[in-house]
Amino acid sequence: MNTTTPPAESATCTLFVVAAPSGAGKSTLVNALLEREPAISLSISHTTRPPRPGELYGRHYFFVEREAFEQEIAEGIFLEHAEVHGNLYGTSRNTVDTLLASGRDVLLEIDWQGARQIRKSKPDCVSVFILPPSRAELERRLRGRGSDSAEVIARRLHNSREEIAHAHEFDFIIVNDNFDEALGDLQAIVRAVRERSELPWKRHEALIQELLA
Ligand code: GDP
Ligand code: ADP
Ligand code: 5GP
Repeated sequence: MNTTTPPAESATCTLFVVAAPSGAGKSTLVNALLEREPAISLSISHTTRPPRPGELYGRHYFFVEREAFEQEIAEGIFLEHAEVHGNLYGTSRNTVDTLLASGRDVLLEIDWQGARQIRKSKPDCVSVFILPPSRAELERRLRGRGSDSAEVIARRLHNSREEIAHAHEFDFIIVNDNFDEALGDLQAIVRAVRERSELPWKRHEALIQELLA
């Protein structure tokens, strides 16, 4: 066998799934990751939750009425969908498949129920769970964000137990205490997974050939 000829496989794109209890810092971490790793596309979810101040249609979410969302479920447009904190959320199948087929890595910010559905339909996905350093800090961040009413915050804090109870189902767990460290951990996961799926020999082909010469 000619050891200098690598196997003829094609590189594959990765579907990353990130979940966390509300307020753990998931969106802030993901946005910072996407600035460092522009080759990853974020899937914009559909939701029946009303927009927060400053949230834009198509940028943060596709905000839709419950009736329209239920119609979309019936039409089968969602790769996964779930009810979270009393609102419906869902990921468009077409968006994810189109991005993956065009050679982009895709990241989903979804809850544990959605993550479970994705693991079934896309078993090669890589899932990451973000934990807050303590309950007190989670509460402080939810209040400090200033985006939700006291009632909504109380509901999210209550629901955080259920979300955290599913942390063990994920491939990786990151504690978001020091933000820069947590961001570094997330980026390290993405890079390691990429290194594997982009076929390491291909990236280092010139060096390998030189060393074998
Ligand atoms: P956050 O907690 O500040 O991110 O608040 P959001 O209201 O934006 O999201 C509420 C929950 O819905 C979070 O657990 C999200 O991960 C989850 N979520 C958002 N989009 C989707 C989606 O498309 N599918 C599913 N299953 N969950 C989603
Ligand atoms: P999630 O998307 O998980 O609900 P956010 O990204 O909205 O959470 O973060 C919740 C709040 O906590 C935001 O105000 C954010 O700026 C803040 N935050 C995120 N990570 C940290 C951190 N490591 N230390 C302190 N505050 C943080
Ligand atoms: P928020 O309303 O604060 O933006 O999000 C609340 C929760 O909904 C978060 O935990 C978020 O991850 C989850 N979520 C957002 N989009 C989706 C989605 O498309 N699918 C699922 N399953 N959960 C989602």
